Amino acid sequence: MIRLGKHLIIRHKKKECVKSCSARLVALVVRYSGNMSDLRDVIIVGSGPAGYTAAIYLGRAGFKPLVIAGALTPGGQLVNTTEVENFPGFPDGVMGPELMDNMQRQAEKFGAEIVWDDVVSVSNNDVTGVKTVSVDQGDVFETHALIIATGSEYRKLDIPGEAEYSGKGVSYCATCDGFFFRDKPIIVVGGGDSAFTEADFLSRFGSSVTLIHRRSEFRASQILVERAQQNPKITIVTDSVVEEILGDDNGAQSVNIRNVITGETSTIAANGIFVAIGHSPATAFIDGIVQRDAGGYIQVDGASTRTSTAGIFAAGDCVDSIYPSSDQCRRHGLPGRPRCPSLPPAVTLPITVIPYKNLKNERKGRHILFTTVSLAKRP
Ligand code: NAP
Repeated sequence: MIRLGKHLIIRHKKKECVKSCSARLVALVVRYSGNMSDLRDVIIVGSGPAGYTAAIYLGRAGFKPLVIAGALTPGGQLVNTTEVENFPGFPDGVMGPELMDNMQRQAEKFGAEIVWDDVVSVSNNDVTGVKTVSVDQGDVFETHALIIATGSEYRKLDIPGEAEYSGKGVSYCATCDGFFFRDKPIIVVGGGDSAFTEADFLSRFGSSVTLIHRRSEFRASQILVERAQQNPKITIVTDSVVEEILGDDNGAQSVNIRNVITGETSTIAANGIFVAIGHSPATAFIDGIVQRDAGGYIQVDGASTRTSTAGIFAAGDCVDSIYPSSDQCRRHGLPGRPRCPSLPPAVTLPITVIPYKNLKNERKGRHILFTTVSLAKRP
């Protein structure tokens, strides 16, 4: 048991669960006495699998968690996925947005309240233990316990033209946008599993796919590299960096690349530029409140979800640089287990995807079920 401030006690019901399964935050039961009706028991920041799993467990445990779900892209990275074939309980597969919509409804069924906004700052009162959470639209919430489940976001190249042509050729999600580049030249940037998986997927659509990597060695699994090497549509360019994305009113048209060994520069025609250079944890808003590592991942106490600040917990991709939850664990079929320590990182199962073709945007409240149509317009 941990006592926070004068009244608050956080009790671990199932210690072994906390160790093995960070999303099962039901284990963190907040009990307090006294007149604190103006304070929330618990706020969850983030609406991916870790956030909604925490909300479901806390809701069922009798609390009314407030989920601050995000304004633009609630639902996390699974809303950018089409068909998920390997999520247990869905023998016929399930669309990523539908899965996240189900998680949202399940959390609400057990009493979770959802706010569609972005957290901009958090402060912690060291004396009372109360945390103050400010959101973009100006609302301010107070809470005894805070759970950070903000996941990660696509890493950007930060080169000229990237922002300008984002959504007009530049994309971070092949399964979302590949369909729009049928018979067009495509470039994929990166040398990891994501880049090779995306190149393979995009070769179904593009007239050609050129994978550009800054080194001559790849992080990607050998099997993915070999598959790309044997694919007649894929050309691999190594030791090269993309320096600029060029285009016109019709969108991106080409990229300028530079060989980092010879210094030679060249221009490659490309209408689709897919950036697949990894993810960064979405934790900037919590800087200075909890300890983060050099990569920005929130540091937790051993295998628990406890951060360096009492009453603040973290789970999912924002914690774990080794086992990305909405990727690895989902691929391994471990719903609600953002950390899957029993599985070696080298074991990955590719996910089969089918692009949305005939769906239109569907709004449920402020929860947008993204389709390829809406994603193409996203910045
Ligand atoms: P990753 O393994 O971190 O690879 C990122 C790649 O991008 C690296 O090759 C890196 O180059 C390059 N890169 C990083 N910053 C760059 C920059 N500013 N400019 C140019 N290149 C840059 O990330 P990931 O490929 O997204 O994979 C993340 C995790 O998901 C991994 O554990 C992976 O195994 C897993 N995953 C698995 C599958 C599957 O189906 N098996 C699919 C996707 C992802 P350097 O190598 O030079 O650092």
